[in-house]
This record gives sequence, structure tokens and C-alpha cells, in this order.
Amino acid sequence: MAKIPGLPISDLLRHLEVESRRSGIPLNEFVMLLCDILGESRTGLYLRREECLNHAQMDLLNQYLERLQQHEPVQYILGRAFFYGREFTVSPAVLIPRPETEGLVELILSQARPGMKILDIGTGSGVIAVTLKASEPSLMVDATDISAEAIAIARRNADNHGCSVHFFEADLFPPLLEHYDLIVSNPPYIAPDEYLTLPPQVRDHEPVIALLAEDEGLDYYRRILSHSPRPGSATCSATRYFFEIGYRQAESMENLAYEAGFERVEILKDLNGLDRFAMID
Ligand code: GLN
Repeated sequence: MAKIPGLPISDLLRHLEVESRRSGIPLNEFVMLLCDILGESRTGLYLRREECLNHAQMDLLNQYLERLQQHEPVQYILGRAFFYGREFTVSPAVLIPRPETEGLVELILSQARPGMKILDIGTGSGVIAVTLKASEPSLMVDATDISAEAIAIARRNADNHGCSVHFFEADLFPPLLEHYDLIVSNPPYIAPDEYLTLPPQVRDHEPVIALLAEDEGLDYYRRILSHSPRPGSATCSATRYFFEIGYRQAESMENLAYEAGFERVEILKDLNGLDRFAMID
């Protein structure tokens, strides 16, 4: 895209509208970048519509727009995302939290009793663990991720929200043998063939390690439910498991859980009416 020259904000907005239509990238994302550069809300933008951006702001806007046109998600450009009404730091080392996952947190909060011990497996940016602890401080929350970079971001998010969560850099289970009241996970669940069909925002920018799973996307559920980490590492069990699942995975999730010896599997839908969560005990 051609560099935009310095224009009054009102003209700039019209220009961004044209760019949005041309590229198919939602106007909202363009406006978020502009708001961030000016440190303004949308109303603030409107009130300052006669002003021009200075050189530094214009340079930054042009850089951001270039990245947006490369399909880089706006959350990575700005380094933050919203989840359950809170702001979280994100980087390309972690998955951008999805609104569906808020449903998982809501489900757990409706079931958890004060003081319960919870493990969040594959915590990524830490959104599930931190939101649970911030919403119900009596919960004891542990969280794992295999990626050291993800753990560093999750720790930062916990600190920013004043939450004490114990983080472990580990493959699924923390190093100590423990029993949890609840184990929650939004693990990678995209099968290899489906991965190829994902939009470029996801496939070219989000971490493959956070998305892709073997065994038709079921590998992590199987490993968690069968308590079978890689040889030599610890294992954990729980009274109840909560998973986010792919919307076509309900039946295989049920079969997998019954085969692993569980007695009850409940599948719940997300706000779009798609099968999205599994509650297993
Ligand atoms: N638990 C994090 C989330 O829900 C990360 C999930 C993942 O990386 N698969 O956003």
C-alpha cells in the first residue's frame, strides 16, 4: 500500500475506510491502530478530527498499516488483547485469546467452589489461569506450558493483574504428582489437514505449536485424559476436566473419554451454537 501522507484525522479516517474496503480487513482494526497511536478513544478521535498527526505518529501509522496489510493480527501489532473484560499482553509466542474461550472460563466459574485447586494446561498467555484467579481469588491455580516464552508472558499477565498463579514450564503436567479438583485446557486441537485451510492471519502469524495436534486434533486430550505424558515426566489427575474442543470434535471427544474410563461427558455449546466445550468426570 502507498504511504499515507500527513492528513487531518477526518481525511485519514476516510482513507482508512477505502483501504479497509480494498483489503477486506475490518475498518475496526485500522481505527484501533490509529486510536493507539494517539492514545485516544474513538470519541477522542472524532473530537480531534481537524488535527493532523505529527511526523513520528504518521511514520508509526504507516508501519502499522504495512503490518496489517501483511495480515498480521492487530493484537500482535499492539501487543495486547482483551479477554473477559481484562487486558492481556500477547506476542507471536502465544495464541491470541479467543472469545469462545471466555465461555470455558464462565463454565468453570459456574462450577468451581471456593478454595478448589485448578490446573490450566497449555496456558499460553495465561488468560484462563489469570482470569480464574482474578475472578475467584480463593482458587489455587497452577498452570503449565511447554514454551518458556509463553510462561514469561503468562507470568507478566498474572503480575499485571495482581494474581498469584504458579507457573511451570512443562510438557502438560507440572513436575510434582498432584491431584487437582479441576483440570482445564484449551490445547492445540487443529488437525494437520485443517491447519492448511486456516486464514493467513492465523497460519502465518500465530504459533503453530499452540494450534496443531496430531491424531485428528485429539492428541492432547488423549494424553491428558490417559495421564500419559512423555516417558520420564510426571503425571496428574483431576476429579473433573474441562476442555475447549473443535466444533466437530464432540463425538470423538466422547468416545475418547469413555475409552479412557470416564463415566460422564457433557458437551456444551458456545455463543454461536457450536459444540465447543467438554466437561468430563
Ligand atoms: N490457554 C490459552 C488460551 O486459551 C492458550 C491456548 C493454546 O495455546 N492452545 O488462549
